[in-house]
Amino acid sequence: MTMYGVPSHWRRYKERYRLSGTRCETCGNIYFPPRKVCPHCRREGKPVSMNFSGKGKVYTFSVIRVPSEGFEAYAPYVIGLIQLEEGPKVTTQIVDCSPEEVYIDMPVEVCFRKLREQGKEGIICYGFKFKPTTDAILKK
Ligand SMILES: [Zn+2]
Repeated sequence: MTMYGVPSHWRRYKERYRLSGTRCETCGNIYFPPRKVCPHCRREGKPVSMNFSGKGKVYTFSVIRVPSEGFEAYAPYVIGLIQLEEGPKVTTQIVDCSPEEVYIDMPVEVCFRKLREQGKEGIICYGFKFKPTTDAILKK
């Protein structure tokens, strides 16, 4: 695998794929992923886009020991349901720690990582994952 060209791609990706969602100005509900229509207010809703802080905590999680295709290199890995500071929950991979280190309410923050590779010469997909904040492991 060649790393050529990755850094610039990475920077562009980060700008394009900030963790953003939708807030409805009518009812105040916050949604992730972003929605065009507020499911609560329907036609009265005023959805506006908002950026999230990227911080949250582990709501629940499970350790994947038998991975799906394309994820073999990462097993075992942790899939967590993260509750964002702003309220919405997001399902994502938790990285930068061993499965044994993950716990409920662990503070986490968003990071941008390789999602998967498709074949040897294939496309590398980047996306957001979550990792423990610097003091998360210490707090345990
Ligand atoms: Zn609404």
